[in-house]
Amino acid sequence: MSIDKRFFEPVSGAELPRFAGIPTFMRLPVLDLDDARISDVDIGLIGVPWDGGTTNRPGARHGPRQMRDLSTMIRSVHPATKISPFTETNCADLGDVQINPAGLDDTMERVTAFYQRVIERNITPLTAGGDHLISLPVLRALAKDRPLGMIHFDAHTDLNDGYFGGFKLTHGTPFRRAIEEGLLDPKKIVQIGLRGTMYDGSDMEWGRARGVTIIEIEEFFERGISDVMAEARSIVGNDPIYVSYDIDFIDPAFAPGTGTPEIGGPNTFQAQQVVRKLYDLNIVGADLVEVSPPFDQSGGTAWVGVSIMFELLCALTTAVKVRRRAT
Ligand code: MN
Ligand code: MN
Repeated sequence: MSIDKRFFEPVSGAELPRFAGIPTFMRLPVLDLDDARISDVDIGLIGVPWDGGTTNRPGARHGPRQMRDLSTMIRSVHPATKISPFTETNCADLGDVQINPAGLDDTMERVTAFYQRVIERNITPLTAGGDHLISLPVLRALAKDRPLGMIHFDAHTDLNDGYFGGFKLTHGTPFRRAIEEGLLDPKKIVQIGLRGTMYDGSDMEWGRARGVTIIEIEEFFERGISDVMAEARSIVGNDPIYVSYDIDFIDPAFAPGTGTPEIGGPNTFQAQQVVRKLYDLNIVGADLVEVSPPFDQSGGTAWVGVSIMFELLCALTTAVKVRRRAT
């Protein structure tokens, strides 16, 4: 634990009004990876302002900036579970990865290199995207030594093979690449919330043939959250997992500011509930992706996004505590 715990506490809204000051993620201190205090950080919040993997409506590059702004409304204690991530762990805003908006391959390398430095410092990353392609370079760092399991909330599988004549790196393909590269164990992947018109369904067939558990939205609502999440927990067990959360998992009535909205999805309460079922799992990293401010005239989608990030932060806090007890 930190010798200077106060440094890692967010600026309180009771001291400085929430509309004042420079917006960092959840009003946390910003810390460079080379700062001496970095060794005290348990969980790092990171922006990846990239949308060059988007196949249709762009704008997710603006996600981290707007989510930082809206995240100043987040308080400290979880209302239902009473988890208090900022007192139980040390959290910091690690800034944005310096991506190159004109270079896809270059950006992929930059993201992986940044996350390698993050995990070398024993920091568990919580990422704000960015389009969903960014999960792939993150996984290349996190799963360097062994394949991970994954619990994935999304309206889409993101298991497609290629677009535009077989181009392999888009926000519709990251998890196909991650399985092919041995970064994810398909038998320990659970995808939840799938819906929307399809190209041909070959993405689901490819995943299921390799052992991916795909829970379409009809099954999700018929069985209910507790039953579905209990199955997800039993599939991943105590193995290290990544949690990836696409904002389009949530119904566009609640989160319209995203590139690929699909109707017939969970409401915001259900969107929170699923994350509360992830506590004490061995989560080694998580992301919240695809918030696209240009399609979000009210700012409401970014608010939903950072509220889910707080849920994920609480789940990561339980994971950090479990790992702490084990050492
Ligand atoms: Mn999606
Ligand atoms: Mn996605």
